Amino acid sequence: MVTQTVTRTVPGAGASPKLAPAELPALAPAEPAAKKERLYMGYFLTPVVWKNALGFLVLHLIAVYGLYVLCARGKVLSWFYVWLSGLLCGFGVTVGAHRLFTHRCFRASWGVRFALVVLHTIAGQNCMYVWVRDHRQHHRYSDTHADPHNVQRGFFFSHIGWLMMRKHPAVFEKGKNIDLSDLERDPIVMFQKRYYKTLYVLFAIMLPTMIPILAWDERPDVALFGCYFFRMIMVLNITWLVNSAAHMFGTRPFNKNIEAVECKMVAFLSLGEGWHNYHHCFPWDYRAAELGSKHDLSTKVIDFMARRGWVTDLKFASESLVRKRAMEMGDGTHAKYGDPATTHEPHQPYQHHHFMPEETPISAASTKWVKHEEDAAAAAAAREFVQTLPTAKGAAAMSLS
Ligand SMILES: [Zn+2]
Ligand SMILES: [Zn+2]
Repeated sequence: MVTQTVTRTVPGAGASPKLAPAELPALAPAEPAAKKERLYMGYFLTPVVWKNALGFLVLHLIAVYGLYVLCARGKVLSWFYVWLSGLLCGFGVTVGAHRLFTHRCFRASWGVRFALVVLHTIAGQNCMYVWVRDHRQHHRYSDTHADPHNVQRGFFFSHIGWLMMRKHPAVFEKGKNIDLSDLERDPIVMFQKRYYKTLYVLFAIMLPTMIPILAWDERPDVALFGCYFFRMIMVLNITWLVNSAAHMFGTRPFNKNIEAVECKMVAFLSLGEGWHNYHHCFPWDYRAAELGSKHDLSTKVIDFMARRGWVTDLKFASESLVRKRAMEMGDGTHAKYGDPATTHEPHQPYQHHHFMPEETPISAASTKWVKHEEDAAAAAAAREFVQTLPTAKGAAAMSLS
């Protein structure tokens, strides 16, 4: 495995030379980096954008006030509305932005795409184009400085800090490699991108605030601070947990060499997006989990639409591929295929990771980049194993591109 790994070239590195094992920089030093060094190299590697930091602080304080007015003065219907609107716009993110538009796990009719873009606009997580760009880059350069929310810079950075700091130069450099041509051919996505500010005011602020006032005569302060700000910040934080907690706290049954983990708590909160070790191994799988578990409402929604023929060409990994991957690369925690005797070495604990120094040219090889190449090769091999859904689910033959 090691020999195969080190003879590959680094993706996107142009004429990078092939490296002998001795030339590879160390990924995990024997001693953990000093706390001070981690802080400097991690959190404060790029300058803080104070305008954004202050903005997020104020938004969170308003959300806390929103929770207070909901508790103190909100009607029962408003509580139900916060839950339902959070659920629906959550599907706009999980089913729409993530599984459909980022990973193309299935094909959808224009009506479904339109509905998902509207729900995604209500969620208020930037336009689809930017959301997809960041997430494709996260997958392509996971856990490196070219990952917009690189978890190696700590929980806070991967959760919200990345939105209040200047992007690392590697994010700009490697961002040029992200192909978004499919989105540029989608008029619904491009319409949302072009008119996002107007659509945000209408769909993300006014619509969710006016419904409780007009429909059940809710107080304006409850509608604005509770039904809008509190719900919006809650959905945002749950989405961010996939970037932070689901890269730190859990098991790695499918690939022990990456940071992404299986995190039940995040899966429950995020409508099924917490089975993240699986998802990073098989990002094109519409279930984003091995079994489409009970904590995966998003998969149930896609299945529902598939049965009615609204979405087609659902992709998912065959059991044999999952078994092969778990046995070859997992950490031995898979309930069925996990066997500690077959695993070679445990995942390096988070605090033992070596942060790439700021001055390291991003095009220089590191074991992380090489591992990514290895994952890409594994993903290419995976295409041979994928099988179609039973026709009863409304799925047609699929093509992986
Ligand atoms: Zn991830
Ligand atoms: Zn993803």
